[in-house]
Amino acid sequence: MKAHDGFYIDGAWRPAVGRDTIDVVNPADEQVIGRVPAGTALDVDTAVRAARAALTGWAATPPAERAARLTALRDALAARKDEIAETVTAELGSPLAFSQAVHASVPIAVAASYAELAATHAFEEKVGNSTVLHEPIGVVGAITPWNYPLHQIVAKVAPALAAGCTVVLKPAEDTPLTAQLFAEAVHEAGVPAGVFNLVTGLGPVAGQALVEHPGVDLVSFTGSTAVGRQIAATAAAAIKKVALELGGKSANVILPSADLAKAVNVGVANVMSNSGQTCSAWTRMLVHRDQYDEALELAAAAAAKYGERIGPVVSARQRERVRGYIDKGVAEGARLVAGGTESPREQGYFVSPTVFADVTPEMTIAQEEIFGPVLSILRYEDEDDALRIANGTVYGLAGAVWAGDESEAVAFARRMETGQVDINGGRFNPLAPFGGYKQSGVGRELGTHGLAEYLQTKSLQF
Ligand code: NAP
Ligand code: MG
Repeated sequence: MKAHDGFYIDGAWRPAVGRDTIDVVNPADEQVIGRVPAGTALDVDTAVRAARAALTGWAATPPAERAARLTALRDALAARKDEIAETVTAELGSPLAFSQAVHASVPIAVAASYAELAATHAFEEKVGNSTVLHEPIGVVGAITPWNYPLHQIVAKVAPALAAGCTVVLKPAEDTPLTAQLFAEAVHEAGVPAGVFNLVTGLGPVAGQALVEHPGVDLVSFTGSTAVGRQIAATAAAAIKKVALELGGKSANVILPSADLAKAVNVGVANVMSNSGQTCSAWTRMLVHRDQYDEALELAAAAAAKYGERIGPVVSARQRERVRGYIDKGVAEGARLVAGGTESPREQGYFVSPTVFADVTPEMTIAQEEIFGPVLSILRYEDEDDALRIANGTVYGLAGAVWAGDESEAVAFARRMETGQVDINGGRFNPLAPFGGYKQSGVGRELGTHGLAEYLQTKSLQF
């Protein structure tokens, strides 16, 4: 795979200060496919200075011109769609068809949505005798995870650029090649030097330096709740704004009136796609006791179909974490109806599609995020019981409700403590605000709500 040996700073690829590098590994065959530099605090400082220097000019650039650059970025990503899909498959391991349909395609739609929003958003409003200006918040430090490597980047960089902010990005160490491709696309799009900068590196080194840097005005982070908590604490000391997209443990609530087979099949597919590495995955399926045995049979059959098709998880460490949770599930009394800890293949970081029955709400596997292809099926007595279980974790990122009647599902969804709910299998909407209740995060991404995270107001009184 193509890899740059420098950082994209101030409009060009520049050599790293230090000599440390990161090996990029293909999780499907455990081979090293590339090597990128690991940034130090000095590299981060150079990038932040470039972003600060570019801020005044970009913030003053008319929104229509910012929109034109975002349209060009959308086009540059679209022109590289195949290369992006192949790169994501090589460094994340997702099957090529999924990389094309989701990893490469969704970011194009999100970039397009922000090209349009930049052109149409009201960056000024009248409130009584005031004119309220919506101004860019400044320099953004963006830190992203590996699970949707390009989507997570575009969901931050596109709204930041639309708002008139400048950006320093520290992508996940496991998927830096996709981030480098993104930087190439930004360059091709004619975005002025310094507006977007990329420093690859390790979280506790380059990531931490970015969070601590006094030249950063907003830290936008997507990743684990543990790291998010640490970042929020560091940022708080400098009264720096944070946007946090964190973990999830979403409930898929199947009400008795639902089409059970459809709800179970879509539910299993949702958890197994991307090898279970989706923050909003419906990892807890809640089924009424009268339908429980039938749901188990359907789920085990659906999971078995994924045995051949599922990709690996991202790394050996991630596979060990997931196996640890499967062991814990068994130890705490849950019953395996599909999968388990045994590797389905000799080579690669594969985990079998796994389904647990007899999971109770207080078990570790029902409380903690697993981030692998592991589904827990829980039994409920009545609707109030289902709601207690659905809301009974520290997380609140997403969820699903199935019912014979849409309004019945909506009534239940209104009582859920979560930022997104799919009704009877509703489709992903790149304009709908995405983000968490409770410990799943602070702030929202996508659409106008995502744009607002990068703006601050100034009120002029007349
Ligand atoms: P992670 O370990 O928290 O890492 C996320 C990013 O933070 C990576 O770039 C990481 O660098 C960096 N980082 C690590 N320690 C840091 C520190 N001390 N200071 C600054 N940055 C630091 O998360 P992950 O394991 O990569 O991703 C999985 C997690 O992300 C899951 O919990 C998942 O739910 C969550 N997630 C949430 C959403 C959402 O929208 N809510 C979306 C996707 C994923 P390294 O790569 O070098 O570790
Ligand atoms: Mg990590």
